[in-house]
Amino acid sequence: MITTLAGLWWLVHVAVIIFVGSGPRGPLLSDLTQLSFEPLLIFAIVDAARRSEGMARSFWRLAAAAYVALAVGQGLGVYYDIFARPPAIPWIDNLLFCFWFAPLAMALFLDPDKEAGKVDTLMALDFVQAVLVCVAAYLYFFYLPKAEASGELAHEVWAPYFAGYGLVVAAFLLRAAFTRSRDVRALFGRMGIFLALSGCVDAMYYYGPGRTLNPGTWFDLLWSALLVIPTWIAATWKQEEAPELPLEAPRRDKRIYTEIFYLFYPLLVLVMSLRIARERLGLAALVLVLSFVCSSARLLVTQSRLMLAKDALRREAAHDGLTGLWNRKSIFAILDRELQRAERDHQPVGLIMIDVDHFKTINDSRGHAAGDSVLRIIASAIAAMVRPYDSVGRYGGEEFLIVAPECSLADTWELAERVRSHVAGCNIVAGGSSVQVSLSLGIAIGQSAAGMEKLLHDADTALYQAKNAGRNRVEPRVASTGRTARASQNSSATPASDFWL
Ligand code: GH3
Ligand code: MG
Ligand code: MG
Repeated sequence: MITTLAGLWWLVHVAVIIFVGSGPRGPLLSDLTQLSFEPLLIFAIVDAARRSEGMARSFWRLAAAAYVALAVGQGLGVYYDIFARPPAIPWIDNLLFCFWFAPLAMALFLDPDKEAGKVDTLMALDFVQAVLVCVAAYLYFFYLPKAEASGELAHEVWAPYFAGYGLVVAAFLLRAAFTRSRDVRALFGRMGIFLALSGCVDAMYYYGPGRTLNPGTWFDLLWSALLVIPTWIAATWKQEEAPELPLEAPRRDKRIYTEIFYLFYPLLVLVMSLRIARERLGLAALVLVLSFVCSSARLLVTQSRLMLAKDALRREAAHDGLTGLWNRKSIFAILDRELQRAERDHQPVGLIMIDVDHFKTINDSRGHAAGDSVLRIIASAIAAMVRPYDSVGRYGGEEFLIVAPECSLADTWELAERVRSHVAGCNIVAGGSSVQVSLSLGIAIGQSAAGMEKLLHDADTALYQAKNAGRNRVEPRVASTGRTARASQNSSATPASDFWL
């Protein structure tokens, strides 16, 4: 549909050139026809972004930014011809025509493994920095060498322009040639070929037959064809791959190389500002300060992201992924720390080892996913019953540990009983029907870090005794003597809390 519209529109442009091109209004009508096509092109690109995910979405967004810049340039040109002639317009126009493709060139830095397709602060800062490079380059190459005629770029500008443009084209084609991703190959390959064609038309305009032609002649049809091609590419674009979840981190050296690239921006601005400063100190200082602010902001954003990532990693390393409780390693570290404190303060530490009764039957009858959810609910029910200074961890599959500092055997027993009766009273609804779960708990008391293994062994033994004595019960054991105290059982628990899955 969009492609057909684009084809028809080009035929209209052909008709405009044939019938009124040589007339007095020909050049203006030709320009207006070209301008009228920009909304369709931008729509096709925005629509391609909407249909894409990950890297492809960011690619099309950058392409949209590039074509909006080109459209603004063309719009200002037409405004200049029809309405008013403020001197600033040719300057802005030249800037836009020279660097409209810069946002598209930024797509070269997109990484298909990392890109989430969202507008990212770092990407926005790099974008601003790239724009500053363009402004500095414009001042350097255009503002300083005097124009041959008002509003026309000095002829010597074209060599660096084509060199920069050629580099971008080569980078697009190389990226397409040396990639594993089919989407990257399709996007960069097609747009690379298009940019090469566009460069050839530019070269024909500045060095070839275009130089002697006026607007409104056949050459305009080449310009408009250069709008039809990206419209066609965007309209026919179809993403082949879903963005991959990277399982391995990218290689460190690869990441460093891409990061180094961003350092070139401020360096380029600095080098160009040195020369600009000789003639326009204020202007050079402004560009330099803005570039500096951008670099500093980039550094701060990177730093704060690193800190956030570090915190998240630290949390992840200490907690159990399923239940959110402390993991085995952390709960052991906490127990060790509390035992050391207990040794110093001559206070006992209570340890409760918990095992869910007949958990396997839940998995067998309702599936592992329901089993996981039940486990999560049990974990939060246990955590809800302890004091703020107690610690709960996942010891193994459906086994948990509670470390209760400054708890005598009686205190620990009371805590364990509170946990047992609460969980036994929970009415958990899994997959539409209710599951009744109960816990067996073994408790023991410890007072020295050296006795940690023995303490764990005692709690384990007490737990097995609770299992053997019929489950859904607390079985205490005094670590120092190995003597087992009287056990408690409450099998007539009434539902106290409800959970649904
Ligand atoms: P008992 O009363 O003797 O403890 O019986 P049980 O069925 O609870 O004990 P058993 O050791 O036979 O089975 C424990 C089950 O817990 C087996 C295992 O599949 C299940 N399990 C362990 N970790 C997880 C987990 O993370 N998710 C799920 N869904 N199940 C788990
Ligand atoms: Mg078990
Ligand atoms: Mg069990």
